[in-house]
This record gives sequence, structure tokens and C-alpha cells, in this order.
Amino acid sequence: MSKETIQFEGLRGELRRDEPMSQHASWKAGGPANRFFAPADLEDLSMFLGQLPPEEQVLFVGLGSNLLVREGGWRGTVILTYAASKRPRMEEGLLYAEAGVACPRVARFSADNNLGSAEWLTGIPGTVGGALAGNAGCYGGETWDIVERVVTINRRGQLRRRSRDEFEFGYRRCELKTDASSDGDEWFASAHFKLPEGDREESRAIMQALLTKRRSTQPLQLPNAGSVFRNPAEGKTAAKLIQFAGLRKYAIGGARVSEKHANFIVNPGGAGTAADIEILILHVQEVVEEKTNVRLVPEVRIVGEAK
Ligand SMILES: Cc1cc2nc3c(=O)[nH]c(=O)nc-3n(C[C@H](O)[C@H](O)[C@H](O)COP(=O)(O)OP(=O)(O)OC[C@H]3O[C@@H](n4cnc5c(N)ncnc54)[C@H](O)[C@@H]3O)c2cc1C
Repeated sequence: MSKETIQFEGLRGELRRDEPMSQHASWKAGGPANRFFAPADLEDLSMFLGQLPPEEQVLFVGLGSNLLVREGGWRGTVILTYAASKRPRMEEGLLYAEAGVACPRVARFSADNNLGSAEWLTGIPGTVGGALAGNAGCYGGETWDIVERVVTINRRGQLRRRSRDEFEFGYRRCELKTDASSDGDEWFASAHFKLPEGDREESRAIMQALLTKRRSTQPLQLPNAGSVFRNPAEGKTAAKLIQFAGLRKYAIGGARVSEKHANFIVNPGGAGTAADIEILILHVQEVVEEKTNVRLVPEVRIVGEAK
């Protein structure tokens, strides 16, 4: 294990070196992060970022359900926002959640409070921060449809309130508008959601039905990262193209295209490496293009150094 090279002051969160990212990614694969910090709260995060050298590369991670860190690892600092203890709350009629709150918890909290339009979040096994970053969505709902405003945090640990209008978002993407003033990298610290009135029992029934459907169509009992590729166009799903290309059950090392849902790659027992998964992704991309003339674009984020 390498030694910490910076003398950080006054931190309350957990700081580690050489943290295996396989423990923080739903694929159960991935190399180490040189430095890893799980802040106690936003103030602690702010304090930490303020002490990091400006050249240090920073990666925010929530539940790692859309993420692959290559075997050589992340040569910089990973900030883990997720904490099981984090919960949403109501603030002035809006639902407030820190970036590290798990999406299913937001769905349940809104139902409990008779708010609608957030039921679909129960099917997203990630955090609010990850959902904002990728405009996660399913069953007709998308994250930014329900956002009123957010707070971002920058490289120096400064918090900034931003309105929804300052972002440009679409299918699985979200960026700060080019004319929004910013002095560098910003990540999501929290969000306020505006939700219409709903009915607790109705919302619970919707969530139950959605989870039942997911269990029957997705390989949820095996390590996976959800849909690997974006759907290329309306009515044309990546899963159908992968199936058409004859790639269901195709395996490289410990990673394999799921037989239950062809746009999922599963990693049974976490036996496959990040390299197995990435090579399989590239193979699927090539074969599908060869057979259908469609180049699939990955939805999962692949970062870090190859070994
Ligand atoms: C079984 C399964 C089903 C899924 N179904 C869906 C689905 O229906 N629809 C869908 O959209 N997705 C789906 N996903 C993918 C995934 O759950 C979502 O993309 C989710 O929003 C990712 O959140 P996360 O916290 O896990 O992000 P991570 O995987 O930790 O990170 C993903 C990306 O977001 C960035 N990020 C994380 N936190 C922040 C932050 N605070 N600020 C800025 N950037 C940040 C990371 O740097 C990274 O680039 C599914 C995944 C699984 C495993």
C-alpha cells in the first residue's frame, strides 16, 4: 500500500490509499484508486477538495452502477458520495436529496409523502448524483424532468446553486450550458426535485409492478451495470441488435453477454476482470456493426488506466 503524501487537516470522512474499485462498482471488477475519500458530509467534502492539489484528477462515484474502472486503476482521487445512511427530506415543498442518496430511496420517500412522478427511480440502482450526471431514466421518466435546481461543488470545494435552465440534457446526457459561467470542473452535490401530488398506494403499486417486470427481464442476481449500450434509435433497441448478431451468451474470460437481456454484460461471482468486460464491449460493438451497420455507443462510463 502506498503512503499518503498530503497532510490533510480536519477531515471527518474516511481517507484510504489503493482502494479496490471492484468494491464500489456493481460489476464487481476494476482496478484501485490511488486515493479514495468518503466524506462525512458536504462540509467535509468541501474541506477535502480545498486541500487537494489542483492538478490531481478527481472522479466522483456514487453506487458504481454505470462505471468500469480499468485494471490499472484511477491515478488520482475517487470521491465516494454514496452512504447508506443518507436520506431525502422535504424542504419548502420540494424534495431535497444529496448526491449520495440512492435513487430507490427517493422513489419510496416520494410515495410515502404522496408525491407522484418519481416511481420509476425505484428501478435505478444508483445515486442521485449519478442519475443527474447521466440523466438516468426508464419507463417514460427522466431525472431532469423532475429537477427544480441543484447545488454543484467545484474543484476548490465551493458550492454553487444552479437552476435547471443552466443545463442542457437529453437521452442519457447532461452538460452545463456553454454560456453558463464556470471556472472548471463541477460535480453534483445535491438536488431539489419538484414533484406533483400523487397517491401513496398508487405509487407503491407502480413501483411494485416495475420491480417485478425488472426481475423478470433483467439478470439482477448477477453482477452487471445495467444497459451497456444506448439504444440507437426509436424502436431499435441495442438488445435486439446484439441478439440479431448472435452474441447472446458470448463470453470473454469471466464476462458474458446475458442470456436474459442481451444489452447486459454479467460478471458471475466477480470472476471477470475489467479488461474481460471492456474487450467484450468492444467485440460486441464490432460484430454488431459488421452485421447491422449500426455502431453502438456505450452508455457505461469506462475510465482509468489499462494494466
Ligand atoms: C440492474 C441495473 C439497471 C439499470 N437500469 C437503468 C435504467 O433503467 N435507466 C438508466 O438510466 N440507468 C440504469 N442503470 C444504470 C445506472 O444505475 C444509472 O446510470 C445510475 O444513474 C448511475 O448512478 P451511480 O450512482 O451508480 O453512478 P456511478 O456509476 O457511480 O457513476 C456514473 C457516472 O456518473 C458520474 N457521477 C457520479 N456521481 C456524480 C456526481 N455527484 N456528480 C457528477 N458526476 C457524478 C461518475 O463520475 C460517472 O461518470 C442500471 C444499472 C443497473 C446495474
